[in-house]
Order: sequence, then C-alpha cells, then structure tokens
Amino acid sequence: MSRIAYVNGRYLPWAKASVHIEDRGYQFSDGVYEVCEVRGGRIIDERRHTTRLRRSLDELRIAMPMSEAALAVVMHECMRRNRVRNGIIYLQITRGVARRDHGFPPAGTRPSIVVTARNLDFAGNERIAAEGIAVVTVPDNRWERVDIKSVSLLPNVLAKEAARARGAKEAWFVDRDGHVTEGSSSNAWIVTMDGKVVTRPADHGILRGITRTVLIEAIAAQGLKLEERPFSVAEAYGAREAFLTSASQVVMPVVRIDDHPVGNGAPGSVATALRARYHDHAEAT
Ligand code: PLP
Repeated sequence: MSRIAYVNGRYLPWAKASVHIEDRGYQFSDGVYEVCEVRGGRIIDERRHTTRLRRSLDELRIAMPMSEAALAVVMHECMRRNRVRNGIIYLQITRGVARRDHGFPPAGTRPSIVVTARNLDFAGNERIAAEGIAVVTVPDNRWERVDIKSVSLLPNVLAKEAARARGAKEAWFVDRDGHVTEGSSSNAWIVTMDGKVVTRPADHGILRGITRTVLIEAIAAQGLKLEERPFSVAEAYGAREAFLTSASQVVMPVVRIDDHPVGNGAPGSVATALRARYHDHAEAT
C-alpha cells in the first residue's frame, strides 16, 4: 500500500508529495510541528496537541492555515488513508513559500502545511520498554525558546546521533549548572530513593510535553509525590528509577545513564505502572 500525505490542501501519493524549494521550512527551519500518538485507531490527546500547536504558531507569528475543526478532519483522514492503528501522526506548518529573505515574507503569504501518518512497531516498543533503554548526557547548546515546538532541531539531531554512537537510544541535555533539561525528543524524569517523582519545571528550558502534562495527572491519581524542580546528573546517576516521556514512546524506562546503571539496572516499578496506566488519563478521539 502506498503511503498518502496531505500537502497544502491535497492528499497525495508518497512519491508526489513535495514542497517548494523556497519553502521557509526548508530555507530557514521557519516552522513548527506536532507529533501525536495513534493507538487502536484513535488519536491520543489531539486537543492538547492542537492547543500547543496554536501556541507555537502564535509565538512565531505564523498564521494557522485552517480551522482546528478542519485540521482534525485532515488528521483523521491521514490516519484512515494510511491504515494506521498504532503509530504516529506528524504535522508541520511553515511560514510558507517566498523569495529567500530572512525577514518575514509579504503579508498574505500562505503558510504551508503537511500531515503524514505511519504505523510504529507496537510490539517491538513494548519489548524495548520491558528491557529499558540507555541514555547519555550532552551539553545543552540550544537556543532559549525550546518551549516552542519548532522544526529547528539541529542540536537535537546531533545529540541523538551522539547517543547512537555511544550505544544509547536517547541523549539528555545538561545545562550550565549541571542540571538535566530534557531529552533530544522527550522529557526527562527520575524517581528518588524515597519514591518522589522529579521532573524539571516547564519553563523556557524545556518543551512542555503533552505526555508530561497528562502524566502529572496520572502521578496524582496513583498517590505518588511529584516534585517539579531541576535535578542534577549526579542525582540522576544515584536515582532509584529514571524514565522519559514522549507521544511516540509514552513512558519509557531508562536503565543506564552514561556508564551508570540506574537502580538495579532494570525498569522500575513506578515507570512500569505509569506506562501501564497512562492511557486511562489521556483523551482518545
Ligand atoms: N522535548 C522535546 C525536545 C521533544 O522533541 C519532545 C517530543 O517530541 C518532547 C519533549 C515530548 O513531548 P510530547 O510528550 O508532547 O511528545
């Protein structure tokens, strides 16, 4: 089955799906994106993702190219046409196509929009979660507006590659004070020896993950204690558990940080329980 992409108003076969060479996403990374989980043929936390998308667009003064209702139709249609049951929807909006010039293009330039959907290996991800993953730490060399979900991801790309080169699945960025900010494509969490769940506050130093937001509800529902505060790399090395969150990985146990096993080197009970219960708190549409 050929994949289908939605590109600026049309559903196109994969081979024909393209954008112009002067698209500002291509020229300047001048755009934003969202990734939603699809589970059992339903989109998870679509409303929250759309709200964050609107915020990212507002922060960069890019117009929303269609109504939220129309966008919801396109996302569901992409899921249906690509027969996605367990996977992701990717959507990207850029400032549009214009002659290359750093300043904003003329008023009336239409933003570009692309939506794609694909299945992920659901069983494979469960196997990975049952074993846990390794992360490495890298200096956080990103700009100060990482709260905006922009497609400008070069430091994240290099960090992920550094993780792979060291046999790990994710890189955790570390700020100048030695505190973990977040992963290259996920939020970072630890569980202290006395059972408190710790994650960095969602200020301008991290992206406010949708999975993070929903998980905070799940943590309260399970009667766990949450501390939103920075934590150091040393504290993470000595934590009882660690895990990360993102729409595509949900809650993923971390069992090694750099060369230090976390806890007993196996996925912890808190991360495992939160992964199992996450979707009780998420919305499915
Ligand atoms: N932080 C960064 C840098 C990300 O790229 C992502 C997801 O792509 C996240 C955090 C997690 O966000 P969410 O839970 O909305 O997927």
